[in-house]
Amino acid sequence: MNTDRDIAALARLIEKARRAVVFTGAGISTESGIPDFRSPGGIWTQMAPIYFDEFLASEEARRETWRRRFAMQDAFGNAAPNRGHRAVDALVRRGKVGAVITQNIDGLHQASGVPPEQIIELHGNTTYATCLDCGTRYEIAELRAVFERDGAVPPCDRCFGHVKTATVSFGQAMPVVAMRRAEQETLAADLFIVLGSSLVVYPAAGFPEIAKRNGAMLAIVNREPTPLDRIADLVVHRGIGDVMGGAAGVN
Ligand SMILES: [Zn+2]
Repeated sequence: MNTDRDIAALARLIEKARRAVVFTGAGISTESGIPDFRSPGGIWTQMAPIYFDEFLASEEARRETWRRRFAMQDAFGNAAPNRGHRAVDALVRRGKVGAVITQNIDGLHQASGVPPEQIIELHGNTTYATCLDCGTRYEIAELRAVFERDGAVPPCDRCFGHVKTATVSFGQAMPVVAMRRAEQETLAADLFIVLGSSLVVYPAAGFPEIAKRNGAMLAIVNREPTPLDRIADLVVHRGIGDVMGGAAGVN
């Protein structure tokens, strides 16, 4: 039974939409136990981020980057998709949502079942690594075994380039292809749903504005107010699992 007005309003928007885009931030994954690293008290307020230039320039910075990555694995490696992820996956499978644009690097949309080709990762993905020069893919577990033996992750065995998680670091350029695809999907949508993003990190935060300017409806579900609440058609300051799960009929 659905007597909740927020949930009913979101369900109506989804019902009326022809093609929706979902845009997710850290807030959807906090319900899986993954902290919002940029929030007050988050990891980046306690530990200085390592900028991309430092990673390229310094063996010590690379070692520290990998040390942190493996520590994260121990802390959050068992995180599983939650009700919010499952609701998004259900809407993708029903053909209602054409693409999921995410600022998250945790791979939980893939884990929930959304086909990888329908996920656009603006900040990359931390569940695997690539060579920065030739793009060869490396698996984290294998790199870790070498790191624990030798104290460092070795360079690419094909081209000797640096191997790094497939994430976009502070100071690293946004991925051009992903940004372009995100813009195309945004322009093709008549409903844009923001889930768990504070919408302060540009250029990513520009997509809801593009959608709105293009005539789409805009729904924002986020625990805290965002700078774009004033232009949204629906704003819900609550947890994502309950609201999206309710609206999509997913438990
Ligand atoms: Zn290489």
